[in-house]
Amino acid sequence: MQGLLKNATMQKVKAKKSLGQHFLTDRNIAKKIVDSLKQDNCKTIVEIGPGTGVLTKMLLQSTKPFFAIEIDQESIDFLKNEFPEKNFLVEGDVLKIDFSQFDAPLAIIGNFPYYISSQIFFKALENKNAVNELVCMIQKEVAQRIASPPGNKTYGILSVLLQTYFDIEYLFTVHEHCFSPAPKVKSAVIRLKRNNRENLNCDEKLFFRVVKQSFNQRRKTLRNSLKNICLNLDGQSEMLAKRPEQLSVDEFIELTAAIETSNQKTM
Ligand code: SAH
Repeated sequence: MQGLLKNATMQKVKAKKSLGQHFLTDRNIAKKIVDSLKQDNCKTIVEIGPGTGVLTKMLLQSTKPFFAIEIDQESIDFLKNEFPEKNFLVEGDVLKIDFSQFDAPLAIIGNFPYYISSQIFFKALENKNAVNELVCMIQKEVAQRIASPPGNKTYGILSVLLQTYFDIEYLFTVHEHCFSPAPKVKSAVIRLKRNNRENLNCDEKLFFRVVKQSFNQRRKTLRNSLKNICLNLDGQSEMLAKRPEQLSVDEFIELTAAIETSNQKTM
């Protein structure tokens, strides 16, 4: 009777497309994802989008402080019911949550809501000095883009910016049958590990601007794309003749530093 009651109150969460809800149903994959989080040198584990808790259940076994950020009221109610003795939920929009409330260094994990995965990565970049490690499942194409080396068509803004501060590993691909409901796209799990880069030796805001603007018109040479940023284009003719996908992270940094110096001289 008690079991029946429990089942009656614990209705399954109805998946909402608008929140990117595709619940992972394969426990072996869930374990593989959780095991991919090394947790070295981190103080707090933060899960993004716990949903019905397939990763959460395993993460709660950790001895480290653990929090999970969820926006969906139905999932929140479900998780509170499933893990009544634990107090780990941070209710709200991950993009609006202040990450400084968590004790850094952080290890972030999640099967990300795909519709905002790029914005979550930009949030990780904003908090890069607090984020030690990030393991996530995202759309396969996005994972490939982020892990892509220069010279590749898929190399873009997020590849350069994330590779500047993180070492990136493409871990494995996940078939759509492993979810309910199945997403239309293939998925993949990647790991980002904060590297040692603290200081870029150039203005960071300008660096972000140079990278974004270079790729906004990726078929143009940098000389054309960066006209309004570089006041004097004479010094760096070799690099400026290239297209953005041909530049490594170090070259983007070098170019930004050169632009900064020459702009200072021109002004
Ligand atoms: N981790 C679960 C669910 C993944 S689906 C599993 O693997 O089965 C993505 C999850 O992100 C859903 O729970 C969804 O409600 C949540 N989500 C969507 N948008 C969010 C946002 N802006 N902030 C926090 N969580 C969000």
